[in-house]
Amino acid sequence: MDTYQIIQEDQIEALLEEGKKATKEEVLEIIEKARDCYGLSLEEAAILLQTEDDDILANLFDAARYIKDKIYGNRIVIFAPLYTSNECTNNCLYCGFRVANKQLHRRTLNVEEIVHEAQAIEKQGHKRVLMVCGEDPRKTHINHIVDAVKAVYQGADIRRINVNAAPMPVEDFKKLKEAGIGTFQIFQETYHRETYKKMHPSGSKSDYDYRLTAIERALEAGIDDFGIGVLLGLYDYRFDVLATLMHAQYMDERYSVGPHTISIPRLRPALDAALSETPYPVSDKDFKKIVAVYRLTVPYTGIILSTRERAELRDELLNLGVSQISAGSKTNPGGYEEDDREATQFETSDERSLDEMLQVVCEQGHLPSFCTACYRANRTGAAFMELAKDAHIHEFCQPNAILTFKENLVHFGSEETKAKGEKMIAQELEKIEDEKVKKETQERLKRIEKGERDLY
Ligand code: SAM
Ligand code: SF4
Repeated sequence: MDTYQIIQEDQIEALLEEGKKATKEEVLEIIEKARDCYGLSLEEAAILLQTEDDDILANLFDAARYIKDKIYGNRIVIFAPLYTSNECTNNCLYCGFRVANKQLHRRTLNVEEIVHEAQAIEKQGHKRVLMVCGEDPRKTHINHIVDAVKAVYQGADIRRINVNAAPMPVEDFKKLKEAGIGTFQIFQETYHRETYKKMHPSGSKSDYDYRLTAIERALEAGIDDFGIGVLLGLYDYRFDVLATLMHAQYMDERYSVGPHTISIPRLRPALDAALSETPYPVSDKDFKKIVAVYRLTVPYTGIILSTRERAELRDELLNLGVSQISAGSKTNPGGYEEDDREATQFETSDERSLDEMLQVVCEQGHLPSFCTACYRANRTGAAFMELAKDAHIHEFCQPNAILTFKENLVHFGSEETKAKGEKMIAQELEKIEDEKVKKETQERLKRIEKGERDLY
């Protein structure tokens, strides 16, 4: 495969140039069309990315909110990252874990310590974890990751483990699949080859093509939920967002399965990072535009927001198309037991606990969901997309979101969160149209109150 065909830089630049020429009427027409939830072409996404007009942006944000509600309802899926190691042989200029950082306290957790972390995350009330590690063949090899995944499933009530790790060969992806991971996440960081080369001067991560093709090897191994994204701030966001969409379109056309999720990490200060400043700063206004453009262009792809962003902006973004958030996060290995600032990957910004976050999510009219049912019932990859496109996914998601939130409230909720959460649950129950499903959900809620778990 000629990887230059996957990401065609000339075409991206030409589309962005062309995108500048659209009139206000044309832009508004595209936004209107997007409300049908069939997605947009790369040409149309390029036009939206070039928009700076505040009136148009207000319209774009409104459409993003509308589409999010139509497809996902008001559900917000919640997870926590679990860092298993900060040892790394790469030298990504932006990251605190880079090999040249001599100040960092290095640590690779053993399986027992990883299970302790998972239990600490579980005690906050989480059910979904994103496992993250540096890339060091001696420390964070595939067997370390696989052993960690298996041990956490056994030793904690964590029901879905997604993994964000270095690209690997098909044989290793098969081991991950066999261990039962959910989504495999990998960010290209920047699709712009020249910038990529500068940002990744040494180590195996300097191979752009091996990273770009990782999700195809994951698919070959049977992992059909994959997540992509770029690290915003490394290069012009318009180029990188359009390239992410080009990558998504390529996967959809060639393999009939697009990304399950797109993440939107924005560059944060990191201990002893080699970048003294952000090469291409992304303003909050542009950041909101990025979220909205993703929502309109690939309406069925989840958008993941981490605690890299400040609390107020996160709250605003919940209304603009984000469908998954992390909460109560630590970015150092062992961080849930002991917060060592000298071991973190980057500084988080939103430091609110999961309990606090749940209150905010409810106050804003969203329903927190800890649901993991789709992946456990094999509704992944193309099968998931089919259901989502038919809007059938609501039939599963709404009751499961209610039930998993209830479970959280019963076992972990503070009195304040319980009060707000119960009100939200009562309201959401009313939205279930099928009387049989509603009755079944009410019965299950009672069973959860009596202490039963994991009903889906
Ligand atoms: N080491 C693996 C890799 O690089 O793919 C996986 C884990 S890495 C810790 C996860 C992601 O963190 C990277 O893909 C990058 O986008 C993000 N990241 C690294 N440094 C960051 C920083 N200073 N601010 C925000 N995100 C950062
Ligand atoms: Fe290592 Fe990943 Fe950080 Fe790069 S981004 S230094 S590969 S942990």
